[in-house]
Amino acid sequence: MSMPTIRHVRAFTVRGGGADYHDQGADHWIDDHIATPMSKYPAYRQSRQSFGLNVLGTLVVEIEASDGTVGFSVTTGGDLGCWIVEKHLARFLEGSPVTDIERMWDQMYNATLFYGRKGIVINTISGVDLALWDLLAKVRKEPVHALLGGPVRDELTFYATGARPDLAKQMGFIGGKMPLHHGPAEREEGLKKNLDMLGDMRAKVGDDFWLMLDCWMSLDLEYATRLATAARNEHGLKWIEEALPPDDYWGYAELRRNVPRGLMVTTGEHEATRWGFRLLLEMQCCDIIQPDVGWCGGITELLKISSLADAHGKLVVPHGSSVYSYHFVITRHNSPFAEFLMMAPQADQVVPMFHPQLLDEPVPVNGRMKASALDKPGFGVRLNPDVALHRPYPR
Ligand SMILES: [Mg+2]
Repeated sequence: MSMPTIRHVRAFTVRGGGADYHDQGADHWIDDHIATPMSKYPAYRQSRQSFGLNVLGTLVVEIEASDGTVGFSVTTGGDLGCWIVEKHLARFLEGSPVTDIERMWDQMYNATLFYGRKGIVINTISGVDLALWDLLAKVRKEPVHALLGGPVRDELTFYATGARPDLAKQMGFIGGKMPLHHGPAEREEGLKKNLDMLGDMRAKVGDDFWLMLDCWMSLDLEYATRLATAARNEHGLKWIEEALPPDDYWGYAELRRNVPRGLMVTTGEHEATRWGFRLLLEMQCCDIIQPDVGWCGGITELLKISSLADAHGKLVVPHGSSVYSYHFVITRHNSPFAEFLMMAPQADQVVPMFHPQLLDEPVPVNGRMKASALDKPGFGVRLNPDVALHRPYPR
């Protein structure tokens, strides 16, 4: 079988939800007074869009092969991501056999080391990597999960992230993760409101349903320790997520030593590459790592991160990222369940996570998704032709 080569790489931006899931309209739970590292400034406390959380927008990477097959991906990155793809990364792809993903990843990573390593550059490399896996799987007429070793179970099981775990329970999810609303700057009154909200939700969902808190990097060690201890002892919290800024590995290690037995410390959605996760694992910062496949280096890097976690006896439960996570999680023994972001503005119904940018995007039914829902070639999704693409740096 002669493999096609990569003919052309294109990068586009899109606005309005989708892969940049923070780019929503008003009155969405995802932008309703959520605690952040910017919450110490009252002017930026009510809305994350007010400090620019949605400035990037979605990045679409399209890769066309010599036989006409087109692979694509969506992630965050917008205009900056387009610049990196078209001005820098495309040279390492165009002319290469579609099979040579490992070499292409290595060249993209090493050629950007002088301005990359984390953040927008690895986010963009992740988008290119996902499009490469989509392309290769489509050329081979197989789903991506078949290239990763195939499913290890018949279905995925999901917990739901959103403002309404009580509704998520009725919809069949195994747990509900809520955003924390008040940071340390709101002092004792804010801490009490955080615990009261958790207590109210515990009363609604009963004792056995998992409840988690996502703190989006907003706390300090002392506050996180107090919140976690009270939340576990009084309301049976399952895990505390991303309590501290991602560079504070020492703080995470101490938090994990401080919290009550049985409460899990989780983090990693803003961490990147095998080396970033090596720090989290070797410094014993957490119980579950939560890489985002669209930000951490793509599928190619997530395979390495996941193997490292497996050897350390840790679970990998990727952050959001829809089909890009589903195809990975279904193939891993140390990823026993998956996250589903509730993107309905009131978190009161299941809608596709990257709506409206993708067509054929599968969603959980009764909190579950059959492996057979992932059997189409590639990642099994199409770009919605009704969503307007903009290509800022055409070549
Ligand atoms: Mg999170």
